[in-house]
Amino acid sequence: MTRIAVVEGDGIGHEVIPVAQKALEVLHPEYEYFPVEVGYGRWEQTGCPCADRDIAALRTADAVLFGAVTTPPMKDYQSVVLRIRKALDLYANLRPVKGDGFDMMIARENTEGLYSGIEEIGPDRATTLRVVTRAGTKRIVREGIRLAQQRGENLTIGHKANVLKSDVFFRDICVAEAKMAGVSCTEKLIDALCLDILQHPEKYDVIVTTNIFGDILSDVASYLIGGLGLVPSANIGDRYALFEPVHGSAPDIAGKNIANPIATLRSAAMLLEHLGDTGGAVRIESAIQQVLASGTRTRDLGGSAGTREFGDAVLRVIGNQG
Ligand code: ATP
Repeated sequence: MTRIAVVEGDGIGHEVIPVAQKALEVLHPEYEYFPVEVGYGRWEQTGCPCADRDIAALRTADAVLFGAVTTPPMKDYQSVVLRIRKALDLYANLRPVKGDGFDMMIARENTEGLYSGIEEIGPDRATTLRVVTRAGTKRIVREGIRLAQQRGENLTIGHKANVLKSDVFFRDICVAEAKMAGVSCTEKLIDALCLDILQHPEKYDVIVTTNIFGDILSDVASYLIGGLGLVPSANIGDRYALFEPVHGSAPDIAGKNIANPIATLRSAAMLLEHLGDTGGAVRIESAIQQVLASGTRTRDLGGSAGTREFGDAVLRVIGNQG
């Protein structure tokens, strides 16, 4: 039996995840769905945002559908997302940004870089160690190469090698791997890349970059398609896979039924694709397109539909697709 762990998390995770879970349930009533509660809300209630048994539960799933968790800026609070990514070794964070005339996939290294977790706050100095390893770089660029080959497209490496030695290391390994695989590869400074993907999105296919640069780049890229409410992501490792919207818990709009559930619905579609149901993934996307075309939109896209109303409209279309 296929088992899906469902993590609502915090904030708008409680609103967008039920929409996506219902879509999965309509398409796959035979799957088993089980909740795992982690996040800041859990910490407030129990003093623990994510226990070992939660990680163990996630490991029993064939895939995880994940909302978002709030990470409060407190010195001794351990980020739940970082813990899960490391514990499940989800090294590739894949963020597709697809619009009129462009279709790019940002492949962000997900376990090291500036999110190494090796840091210290002293009285007068704080440090965070940016760790780039050969093994970590090879596995993310190989994923990028695999995607570029699959899509018949070229690869761009985003880096800041003019300043950071760790990115000279990253860039050189990426370029050498691409060359070895016979994949056409260009490299670009990450700040210039942020501007260029907005001005010439059609030039880009698969972009491989380090952890925080990929995080920023994909938020920038989301501008091309209408904002954060629209961009899904897959976190993939060799054994486990977790699917979540690129946006966070958005506490400013939480509990108001105004969050856009599209990013999470698309994450559910990526989950289905991962499990081999490409048809189900296509049904979710075409239902989203049909509802948008009918003029039903959430507030971030200039409409007035609530999260639930938009979700119900998508579910109706999926139910009628036959
Ligand atoms: P985090 O630190 O977890 O990333 P955040 O609130 O700083 O959380 P996001 O949650 O990514 O960042 O969101 C940034 C802003 O984008 C939010 O404040 C919200 O206004 C908007 N936003 C994010 N997701 C959505 C969504 N699904 N629908 C509508 N607006 C959204």
